[in-house]
Amino acid sequence: MEKIDIQKVRADFPLLRREVNGKPLVYLDNGATTQKPKVVIDAITNYYSDMNSNVHRGVHYLSQISTDAFEVTRRKVQEFINAKEDFEVIITKGTTDSINLVATCYGKAFIHEGEEIIISAMEHHSNIVPWQMLCEEKGAVLRVIPMNAKGELDMGAYANLLSAKTKLVSVTYVSNALGTINPIKEIIDLAHAINVPVLVDAAQGIQHLAIDVQKLDVDFLAFSGHKMYAPTGVGVLYGKKDLLNAMPPYQGGGDMIKEVTFEKTTYNELPFKFEAGTPNIEAGICLSAAIDYINELGIDNIKAYEDELLAYATNKIIEIPGVQLIGEAAQKSSVLSFVVDGVHPYDIGVILDKLGIAVRTGHHCAQPVMDQFGIPGTVRASLAVYNTKEDIDNFIAGLNRAVNMLV
Ligand SMILES: *Cc1c(COP(=O)(O)O)cnc(C)c1O
Repeated sequence: MEKIDIQKVRADFPLLRREVNGKPLVYLDNGATTQKPKVVIDAITNYYSDMNSNVHRGVHYLSQISTDAFEVTRRKVQEFINAKEDFEVIITKGTTDSINLVATCYGKAFIHEGEEIIISAMEHHSNIVPWQMLCEEKGAVLRVIPMNAKGELDMGAYANLLSAKTKLVSVTYVSNALGTINPIKEIIDLAHAINVPVLVDAAQGIQHLAIDVQKLDVDFLAFSGHKMYAPTGVGVLYGKKDLLNAMPPYQGGGDMIKEVTFEKTTYNELPFKFEAGTPNIEAGICLSAAIDYINELGIDNIKAYEDELLAYATNKIIEIPGVQLIGEAAQKSSVLSFVVDGVHPYDIGVILDKLGIAVRTGHHCAQPVMDQFGIPGTVRASLAVYNTKEDIDNFIAGLNRAVNMLV
């Protein structure tokens, strides 16, 4: 815990100093989006004050420096996830966009009638719906890896689902609704044993765990900037070179072409083939400030700190009568999802909000998870590196108060 200087970290995030409903803010909705450190906020201002210009186009000075800064991000992401090539990093709008890109382009080239795509029971809607749309279009079949009552995937059932019909596996690294960390290396290895590529949704993994795409041997990795201390509107799709090259382009437009005539258009090479149109330049450039920030703290230090906070919070919450944790996997990350007997999650959320405590309530874009547990939703407290034991104490006190009022 000593490795994170928490007072210094907190001072880096201006928004954490504000009050909400007359109370100091306790921000525990990091699974939805994280707050931004001053270095990222400054990078946004700096971009517009100093270099605003379109990328990959002009010969003029400003266009060159904004292009250089945008491409620095690509290489920073490459290093951060240890991709072999910088052109294997596609800059997208976010996780949803990255998964839709693969569903559309990989789907177009490689998925046929009767073939199967495997996802899991704990996916975010953005790793369910694109595949359903693809299956509907192609007459393909969606298969779902079941999970147990603790929120752990049934790996035996997964092994049985894999077959000659399987064309892709797409699973989340960490569940946003349950906090489960899936055995992603084992999932990948089992699929690779029958030559099936794997997409990993790392939207809840990238900010909490060290990820090395070469070590994992993952085929596609998707994540969002805004959940890792960067602005909204930027994300990443990592893909292995051979797969990306074999896929048709996503959207048509500027930047993704080599030559356009009315008779025939030839496509640009990687990564530009998948980056049509003007990107979110400011967010793209600022993603590199967020990665620098994470690197300075050290992702392993972040994980150790958050693990300790999670254990602290878990021990306190299970003492509250009537509270039931949803998601009790042996391997968990920074999410406390729970229900209170006889109380709607929304009512807890409203009382906590009055006390300045921000949590999320509802199905967390994972309705099938809620269906499996037979509940309409949960209250979710999700942690980031700037949360403290004091935040947890305030949250637990607020929750006690809410439970006493409502039960
Ligand atoms: C947030 C989230 C997504 C979607 O990310 P967007 O930034 O909304 O595109 C997908 N999967 C998981 C696990 C998430 O937590």
